[in-house]
Amino acid sequence: MLESDDLVGLGMAAHQMRLKKNDPRVVTYQIDRNINYTNFCTEYCSFCAFYRPLGAKDGYILSFEEIYKKIDASRKSANSASAKRFSA
Ligand code: SF4
Repeated sequence: MLESDDLVGLGMAAHQMRLKKNDPRVVTYQIDRNINYTNFCTEYCSFCAFYRPLGAKDGYILSFEEIYKKIDASRKSANSASAKRFSA
């Protein structure tokens, strides 16, 4: 399985395993968020359109207050999604 490049087949196998191991009427999702506290980077990966070199005018570093706001927004979003699940 780890060496397969059949992504659709892997997804189908995972779905069958989920149905086998869990109540098929229940589906859960993970709400994941990466908070990019800065877009300054020194790696310069060729595929990346996100990074800005140190000192770039459009670069940013978030304050702790901004980071905490994003964390709170993520929590509210997760709670809202949870509430929808249980009210359905
Ligand atoms: S992907 Fe972009 S942000 Fe990430 S290490 Fe590479 S250049 Fe930096």
